[in-house]
Amino acid sequence: MSRIATEAAPLVSARNVHKSFGHNEVLKGIDLDVMPGEVVVVLGPSGSGKSTFLRCINHLEAIDRGSIMVAGEQIGYRLSGERLTKLSPRAIAAQRRQIGMVFQQFNLFPHMTALENIIEAPVGVHGHSRKDATDYAMELLGRIGLTEKANAYPRQLSGGQQQRVAIARALAIRPKLMLFDEPTSALDPELVGEVLTTMRDLAGQGLTMIVVTHEIGFAREAADRVVFMDGGLVVEQGRPEEVLANPSHPRTRLFLSRFI
Ligand code: ADP
Ligand code: MG
Repeated sequence: MSRIATEAAPLVSARNVHKSFGHNEVLKGIDLDVMPGEVVVVLGPSGSGKSTFLRCINHLEAIDRGSIMVAGEQIGYRLSGERLTKLSPRAIAAQRRQIGMVFQQFNLFPHMTALENIIEAPVGVHGHSRKDATDYAMELLGRIGLTEKANAYPRQLSGGQQQRVAIARALAIRPKLMLFDEPTSALDPELVGEVLTTMRDLAGQGLTMIVVTHEIGFAREAADRVVFMDGGLVVEQGRPEEVLANPSHPRTRLFLSRFI
Protein backbone atom coordinates (compact mmCIF):
# COMPACT_ATOMS: atom_id res chain seq x y z
CA MET A 1 0.00 0.00 0.00
CA SER A 2 2.89 2.33 -0.67
CA ARG A 3 0.75 4.69 -2.72
CA ILE A 4 -0.91 5.92 0.48
CA ALA A 5 1.06 8.65 2.14
CA THR A 6 0.63 7.48 5.72
CA GLU A 7 2.66 10.34 7.17
CA ALA A 8 0.75 13.02 5.30
CA ALA A 9 -2.25 14.86 6.70
CA PRO A 10 -5.61 13.28 5.92
CA LEU A 11 -7.29 14.60 2.80
CA VAL A 12 -10.67 14.19 4.49
CA SER A 13 -11.18 14.50 8.19
CA ALA A 14 -14.69 14.21 9.61
CA ARG A 15 -15.22 14.72 13.31
CA ASN A 16 -18.40 14.15 15.28
CA VAL A 17 -20.58 14.94 12.28
CA HIS A 18 -24.24 15.31 13.15
CA LYS A 19 -27.09 15.84 10.72
CA SER A 20 -30.84 15.74 11.30
CA PHE A 21 -33.80 16.11 8.99
CA GLY A 22 -36.49 17.47 11.28
CA HIS A 23 -36.59 15.08 14.22
CA ASN A 24 -34.82 12.34 12.29
CA GLU A 25 -31.18 12.31 13.36
CA VAL A 26 -29.48 10.67 10.40
CA LEU A 27 -25.80 11.21 11.26
CA LYS A 28 -25.06 10.75 14.95
CA GLY A 29 -21.39 11.61 15.24
CA ILE A 30 -19.42 10.33 12.27
CA ASP A 31 -15.64 10.24 12.63
CA LEU A 32 -13.62 9.35 9.57
CA ASP A 33 -10.20 10.17 8.15
CA VAL A 34 -9.24 9.45 4.56
CA MET A 35 -5.59 9.66 3.59
CA PRO A 36 -4.39 11.00 0.23
CA GLY A 37 -4.51 8.18 -2.32
CA GLU A 38 -6.68 6.00 -0.14
CA VAL A 39 -9.71 4.11 -1.46
CA VAL A 40 -12.35 3.79 1.22
CA VAL A 41 -15.45 1.69 0.58
CA VAL A 42 -18.45 2.49 2.76
CA LEU A 43 -20.88 -0.34 3.35
CA GLY A 44 -24.06 -0.36 5.37
CA PRO A 45 -27.78 -1.00 5.23
CA SER A 46 -30.20 1.27 3.45
CA GLY A 47 -31.06 4.32 5.56
CA SER A 48 -27.86 4.24 7.60
CA GLY A 49 -26.85 7.72 6.39
CA LYS A 50 -24.25 6.85 3.74
CA SER A 51 -25.60 9.18 1.04
CA THR A 52 -26.21 11.95 3.56
CA PHE A 53 -22.61 11.73 4.69
CA LEU A 54 -21.28 11.97 1.12
CA ARG A 55 -23.66 14.85 0.43
CA CYS A 56 -22.34 16.69 3.49
CA ILE A 57 -18.77 16.31 2.21
CA ASN A 58 -19.83 17.78 -1.13
CA HIS A 59 -21.86 20.75 0.19
CA LEU A 60 -25.18 19.25 -0.87
CA GLU A 61 -26.27 19.21 2.78
CA ALA A 62 -25.09 21.38 5.68
CA ILE A 63 -24.07 19.61 8.88
CA ASP A 64 -25.56 20.55 12.26
CA ARG A 65 -22.58 19.83 14.46
CA GLY A 66 -18.98 18.64 14.21
CA SER A 67 -16.67 19.40 11.32
CA ILE A 68 -15.58 18.12 7.93
CA MET A 69 -12.18 19.16 6.61
CA VAL A 70 -11.13 18.52 3.01
CA ALA A 71 -7.58 19.36 1.96
CA GLY A 72 -7.09 21.35 5.15
CA GLU A 73 -10.18 23.51 4.77
CA GLN A 74 -13.37 23.29 6.74
CA ILE A 75 -16.26 22.49 4.41
CA GLY A 76 -18.63 25.44 4.14
CA TYR A 77 -17.10 27.48 6.97
CA ARG A 78 -14.11 29.61 7.82
CA LEU A 79 -12.63 30.07 11.25
CA SER A 80 -12.24 33.76 11.98
CA GLY A 81 -10.94 34.25 15.49
CA GLU A 82 -13.08 31.99 17.62
CA ARG A 83 -16.08 32.12 15.36
CA LEU A 84 -17.10 29.95 12.43
CA THR A 85 -18.55 31.99 9.62
CA LYS A 86 -20.32 30.61 6.58
CA LEU A 87 -18.32 30.78 3.40
CA SER A 88 -19.40 32.95 0.50
CA PRO A 89 -20.91 31.19 -2.53
CA ARG A 90 -17.68 31.91 -4.37
CA ALA A 91 -15.56 30.26 -1.69
CA ILE A 92 -17.93 27.29 -1.58
CA ALA A 93 -17.64 26.95 -5.35
CA ALA A 94 -13.85 26.86 -4.95
CA GLN A 95 -14.12 24.08 -2.38
CA ARG A 96 -16.50 22.11 -4.56
CA ARG A 97 -14.02 22.23 -7.42
CA GLN A 98 -11.82 19.91 -5.38
CA ILE A 99 -14.47 17.22 -5.18
CA GLY A 100 -15.99 15.11 -7.94
CA MET A 101 -19.15 13.13 -7.33
CA VAL A 102 -20.79 10.27 -9.19
CA PHE A 103 -24.38 9.33 -8.41
CA GLN A 104 -26.51 6.27 -8.90
CA GLN A 105 -28.40 8.08 -11.65
CA PHE A 106 -25.83 9.32 -14.14
CA ASN A 107 -27.78 12.49 -15.06
CA LEU A 108 -25.89 13.31 -18.21
CA PHE A 109 -27.30 16.22 -20.16
CA PRO A 110 -29.35 14.43 -22.84
CA HIS A 111 -28.94 17.13 -25.49
CA MET A 112 -25.14 17.10 -25.24
CA THR A 113 -22.66 14.56 -26.60
CA ALA A 114 -20.36 12.64 -24.28
CA LEU A 115 -17.57 15.11 -25.03
CA GLU A 116 -19.82 18.15 -24.47
CA ASN A 117 -21.00 16.69 -21.16
CA ILE A 118 -17.40 16.28 -20.02
CA ILE A 119 -16.23 19.79 -20.98
CA GLU A 120 -19.37 21.56 -19.74
CA ALA A 121 -18.13 22.29 -16.21
CA PRO A 122 -14.49 23.01 -17.07
CA VAL A 123 -15.53 25.52 -19.78
CA GLY A 124 -18.84 26.81 -18.45
CA VAL A 125 -18.08 26.98 -14.73
CA HIS A 126 -14.32 26.98 -14.33
CA GLY A 127 -13.38 29.15 -17.28
CA HIS A 128 -10.97 26.75 -18.99
CA SER A 129 -10.43 27.20 -22.71
CA ARG A 130 -12.47 24.96 -24.95
CA LYS A 131 -9.29 23.59 -26.50
CA ASP A 132 -7.68 22.62 -23.17
CA ALA A 133 -10.93 21.16 -21.84
CA THR A 134 -11.42 19.15 -25.04
CA ASP A 135 -7.85 17.82 -24.97
CA TYR A 136 -8.27 16.67 -21.39
CA ALA A 137 -11.75 15.25 -22.07
CA MET A 138 -10.33 13.17 -24.93
CA GLU A 139 -7.59 11.92 -22.61
CA LEU A 140 -10.24 10.94 -20.05
CA LEU A 141 -12.36 9.25 -22.72
CA GLY A 142 -9.25 7.29 -23.68
CA ARG A 143 -8.70 6.24 -20.08
CA ILE A 144 -12.26 4.90 -19.82
CA GLY A 145 -12.03 3.26 -23.25
CA LEU A 146 -14.70 5.40 -24.91
CA THR A 147 -12.72 7.52 -27.36
CA GLU A 148 -14.93 6.42 -30.23
CA LYS A 149 -18.05 7.57 -28.34
CA ALA A 150 -16.95 11.20 -27.95
CA ASN A 151 -19.68 12.47 -30.26
CA ALA A 152 -22.42 10.07 -29.17
CA TYR A 153 -25.44 11.33 -27.27
CA PRO A 154 -26.39 9.67 -23.96
CA ARG A 155 -29.35 7.87 -25.56
CA GLN A 156 -26.90 6.19 -27.95
CA LEU A 157 -24.88 4.79 -25.07
CA SER A 158 -25.54 1.84 -22.77
CA GLY A 159 -26.13 2.52 -19.09
CA GLY A 160 -22.62 1.35 -18.30
CA GLN A 161 -21.14 3.63 -20.94
CA GLN A 162 -23.22 6.55 -19.65
CA GLN A 163 -21.97 5.99 -16.12
CA ARG A 164 -18.38 5.83 -17.35
CA VAL A 165 -18.92 9.17 -19.12
CA ALA A 166 -20.38 10.52 -15.86
CA ILE A 167 -17.18 9.41 -14.11
CA ALA A 168 -15.09 11.18 -16.77
CA ARG A 169 -17.25 14.27 -16.34
CA ALA A 170 -16.56 14.26 -12.59
CA LEU A 171 -12.84 13.82 -13.25
CA ALA A 172 -12.75 16.69 -15.75
CA ILE A 173 -12.46 19.28 -12.99
CA ARG A 174 -9.33 17.46 -11.75
CA PRO A 175 -10.72 16.84 -8.26
CA LYS A 176 -8.55 15.90 -5.31
CA LEU A 177 -11.31 13.65 -4.03
CA MET A 178 -13.90 11.50 -5.79
CA LEU A 179 -17.14 10.46 -4.13
CA PHE A 180 -19.20 7.60 -5.57
CA ASP A 181 -22.72 6.97 -4.30
CA GLU A 182 -23.82 3.50 -5.39
CA PRO A 183 -22.56 4.08 -8.94
CA THR A 184 -23.64 0.65 -10.20
CA SER A 185 -26.97 0.25 -8.40
CA ALA A 186 -29.08 1.51 -11.30
CA LEU A 187 -27.35 -0.65 -13.90
CA ASP A 188 -28.42 -3.92 -15.43
CA PRO A 189 -26.25 -6.66 -13.91
CA GLU A 190 -24.32 -7.28 -17.12
CA LEU A 191 -23.20 -3.62 -17.21
CA VAL A 192 -21.89 -3.43 -13.65
CA GLY A 193 -18.51 -4.98 -14.44
CA GLU A 194 -17.34 -2.33 -16.91
CA VAL A 195 -18.07 0.48 -14.45
CA LEU A 196 -16.28 -1.35 -11.64
CA THR A 197 -13.31 -1.91 -13.96
CA THR A 198 -13.14 1.83 -14.65
CA MET A 199 -13.28 2.53 -10.91
CA ARG A 200 -10.62 -0.08 -10.19
CA ASP A 201 -8.35 1.60 -12.75
CA LEU A 202 -8.84 4.95 -11.03
CA ALA A 203 -8.12 3.42 -7.65
CA GLY A 204 -4.89 2.02 -9.07
CA GLN A 205 -3.89 5.47 -10.31
CA GLY A 206 -3.71 6.92 -6.82
CA LEU A 207 -6.96 8.87 -6.82
CA THR A 208 -8.48 9.42 -3.37
CA MET A 209 -11.92 7.81 -3.43
CA ILE A 210 -14.83 7.28 -1.06
CA VAL A 211 -17.14 4.70 -2.58
CA VAL A 212 -20.55 3.76 -1.24
CA THR A 213 -21.45 0.45 -2.81
CA HIS A 214 -22.94 -2.96 -2.16
CA GLU A 215 -20.35 -4.55 -4.45
CA ILE A 216 -18.46 -6.61 -1.89
CA GLY A 217 -16.11 -7.94 -4.58
CA PHE A 218 -15.05 -4.39 -5.43
CA ALA A 219 -14.48 -3.67 -1.73
CA ARG A 220 -12.35 -6.79 -1.39
CA GLU A 221 -10.21 -6.06 -4.45
CA ALA A 222 -9.97 -2.29 -4.64
CA ALA A 223 -10.45 -0.89 -1.15
CA ASP A 224 -7.61 0.00 1.17
CA ARG A 225 -10.15 0.25 3.95
CA VAL A 226 -13.75 -0.77 4.43
CA VAL A 227 -15.99 1.33 6.65
CA PHE A 228 -19.26 -0.07 7.89
CA MET A 229 -22.01 2.42 8.77
CA ASP A 230 -25.15 1.63 10.69
CA GLY A 231 -27.70 3.95 12.29
CA GLY A 232 -25.76 7.10 11.48
CA LEU A 233 -22.47 5.90 12.97
CA VAL A 234 -19.30 4.19 11.80
CA VAL A 235 -19.57 0.94 13.71
CA GLU A 236 -16.54 -0.85 12.30
CA GLN A 237 -13.65 -0.23 9.91
CA GLY A 238 -10.48 -1.92 8.82
CA ARG A 239 -8.65 -3.62 6.01
CA PRO A 240 -11.10 -5.38 3.68
CA GLU A 241 -9.70 -8.84 4.32
CA GLU A 242 -10.28 -8.32 8.04
CA VAL A 243 -13.66 -6.61 8.08
CA LEU A 244 -15.18 -8.72 5.30
CA ALA A 245 -13.85 -12.08 6.43
CA ASN A 246 -14.00 -11.56 10.14
CA PRO A 247 -16.44 -8.80 11.10
CA SER A 248 -16.43 -8.06 14.80
CA HIS A 249 -19.63 -6.01 15.13
CA PRO A 250 -22.95 -7.90 15.12
CA ARG A 251 -24.49 -5.36 12.70
CA THR A 252 -21.64 -5.88 10.24
CA ARG A 253 -22.03 -9.65 10.52
CA LEU A 254 -25.75 -9.43 9.90
CA PHE A 255 -25.27 -7.13 6.90
CA LEU A 256 -22.55 -9.26 5.33
CA SER A 257 -24.47 -12.50 5.89
CA ARG A 258 -26.85 -11.36 3.15
CA PHE A 259 -24.07 -11.47 0.56
CA ILE A 260 -22.82 -14.98 1.29
P1 ADP B 1 -28.39 5.54 2.86
O1 ADP B 1 -27.71 6.24 1.75
O2 ADP B 1 -27.45 4.86 3.82
O3 ADP B 1 -29.43 4.59 2.38
P2 ADP B 1 -29.53 8.14 3.43
O4 ADP B 1 -28.42 9.02 3.84
O5 ADP B 1 -30.03 8.27 2.04
O6 ADP B 1 -29.14 6.63 3.76
O7 ADP B 1 -30.79 8.36 4.36
C1 ADP B 1 -30.73 8.23 5.76
C2 ADP B 1 -32.02 8.74 6.32
O8 ADP B 1 -32.13 10.13 6.07
C3 ADP B 1 -33.25 8.08 5.76
O9 ADP B 1 -34.15 7.87 6.82
C4 ADP B 1 -33.80 9.14 4.81
O10 ADP B 1 -35.19 9.05 4.71
C5 ADP B 1 -33.38 10.43 5.47
N1 ADP B 1 -33.18 11.52 4.53
C6 ADP B 1 -32.19 11.59 3.61
N2 ADP B 1 -32.26 12.74 2.92
C7 ADP B 1 -33.31 13.42 3.41
C8 ADP B 1 -33.91 14.71 3.11
N3 ADP B 1 -33.40 15.51 2.17
N4 ADP B 1 -34.98 15.07 3.84
C9 ADP B 1 -35.49 14.26 4.80
N5 ADP B 1 -34.97 13.06 5.13
C10 ADP B 1 -33.90 12.64 4.44
MG1 MG C 1 -27.85 6.03 -0.29
